[in-house]
Amino acid sequence: MVLMSCFFHSRGRILEVLRNWPEKSIQVIVVTDGERILGLGDCGCQCLPITIDVGTNNEDLLKDEFYIGLKQRRATGQEYSELLDEFMTAVRQNYGQKVLVQFEDFANHNAFTLLEKYRANHLVFNDDIQGTAAVVLAGLIAALKSVGGTLADQTFLFFGAGEAGTGIAELVALEISRQAKVSVEEARKKIWLVDSKGLIVTSRKETLQPFKKRYAHEYEPVKDLLGAVKAIRPTALIGSAGVGQSFTEEVIEAMSSINERPIILALSNPTSQSECTAEQAYTWSQGRAIFGSGSPFDPVKYNDKLFVPAQANNAYIFPGFGLGVVISGAVRVTDDMVLAAAEGLADQVTPEHIDKGLIYPPFSIIRKISANIAARVAAKAYDLGLASQLPRPKDLVKYAESCMYTPVYRSYR
Ligand code: NAD
Repeated sequence: MVLMSCFFHSRGRILEVLRNWPEKSIQVIVVTDGERILGLGDCGCQCLPITIDVGTNNEDLLKDEFYIGLKQRRATGQEYSELLDEFMTAVRQNYGQKVLVQFEDFANHNAFTLLEKYRANHLVFNDDIQGTAAVVLAGLIAALKSVGGTLADQTFLFFGAGEAGTGIAELVALEISRQAKVSVEEARKKIWLVDSKGLIVTSRKETLQPFKKRYAHEYEPVKDLLGAVKAIRPTALIGSAGVGQSFTEEVIEAMSSINERPIILALSNPTSQSECTAEQAYTWSQGRAIFGSGSPFDPVKYNDKLFVPAQANNAYIFPGFGLGVVISGAVRVTDDMVLAAAEGLADQVTPEHIDKGLIYPPFSIIRKISANIAARVAAKAYDLGLASQLPRPKDLVKYAESCMYTPVYRSYR
C-alpha cells in the first residue's frame, strides 16, 4: 500500500514527488483528496493512501495544532484542476498508461467531473460512483431471484441523489437497457430520485445539477419521501442521503402494502445515519423485506425465522475489479466492465443465501468472489479489444487466482 501526500505546494514538482517513491512497479494507485470520507465528511489529509492535500475546510482540523496536513482552506477551481491534471500526467509519465488510478472519497462536486474528464484517456475507476453502483446493482439482481421478474419490471425510488444514488441509478439504467434492449433514456423512466428538495420532477429541471436532470420525470411536485413512495409505488427503495431513520415505520409499511417482497436498501453510513436498522425493516414489513445496508447489522430473529442482513460493501467489488484490469492489461475502464463485475458478483449468490435473506455471498469467501469478478472483468476487456496482456489465458478464474497475493509468512519461534 502506498501512503504518500502530494501537497498543493508541490505543484509543478509532482513528477519529482512520485519519483521519490522507492517502489517502481506500481499497478493500482488509490488516490483521494479526503473531502468526503464514508459519510464522515472532510477529513483533510488524514486518510490513505495517495492524498492530494489541497487543504481542508474542516474547522476542527484547521484549529488542531497536531493536524498533519496543510492548514489552509481547500484550493478549488482552476488551481485544483491544474494540480489534478499534473498528477494524472505525472502518474502516466512515471508508471505508464496501464496503472489503474482509483479515485476514492472525493466530494461529489469533483468526483463526477474528474471521472468524466479522465475516463476517455486514462485508466480510471471511481469507487464511490462505479464501485458502489456495481455492488448495489449486484444486490438488486440477486434480490430478483426471490422477487421474481426482471430489472425492467421494477420501479426504483432513490432517496438521496448524490454520488452513490445517481451512480447506482445510471448503472441500473444501463443494465436495464442492455437486458431489455431499450435505450438508456427509456430505461431511466423506471427510476425516480428524491433529493433534499423532494421528488425530482420536470418542473425542477432548470435548477438541477446536470447529473440529476436526466431523472426529472413528468409528475407533480412531491415534498416528502412517504408522499413519493405512495405516488410512485416503487418495488425497490434505495437510501443514500446520509439521513438516519428516514425510512420510518410508515415508509416501510407503505412499501410492504405495495409489494409482497419490498426491496429496501439502507445504504447510508455510519450506522447512526442508516435509513433504518435491519430489525426495523424486518419487523415493520412483517419479515417480507429483502434488506441490504451500507452499515453492518447483526442477524435478526423475527417470528422464529433468522434473517441475515446483507451488507452492500464496496470491498466486494474493487479488489476483484482492479485485479481484472491488471491481469488483462486493460487500457481503459468501460461501463460494460463495471456491469460485468456486478453480474459476476450476483452470479455467486446461491438459493441458500437467498433463503437466509442474503443478497450477497458471505464475505468469508471474498478471495473466491474476487477471482470470479476479476475473470468477468478481464473477459469483458478482452471481448472489447481493450486488453493488452496477450495471449488471453484459457481459464481466467484460475489465472486470476494465480495472480493473487497470498500473505504467507515464515514463522519465528
Ligand atoms: P453525496 O453527498 O454525494 O449525496 C447525498 C445526497 O443526499 C445529495 O443528493 C443530497 O441532496 C441528498 N440529501 C441530503 N439530505 C437529504 C434529505 N433530507 N432528503 C433527501 N435527500 C437528501 O453523498 P454520497 O457519496 O452519495 O453518499 C451518501 C451516503 O451513502 C453516505 O452515507 C455514504 O456513506 C453512503 N454510501 C454507501 C455505500 C455502500 O453502502 N456501499 C457506498 C457509497 C456511499
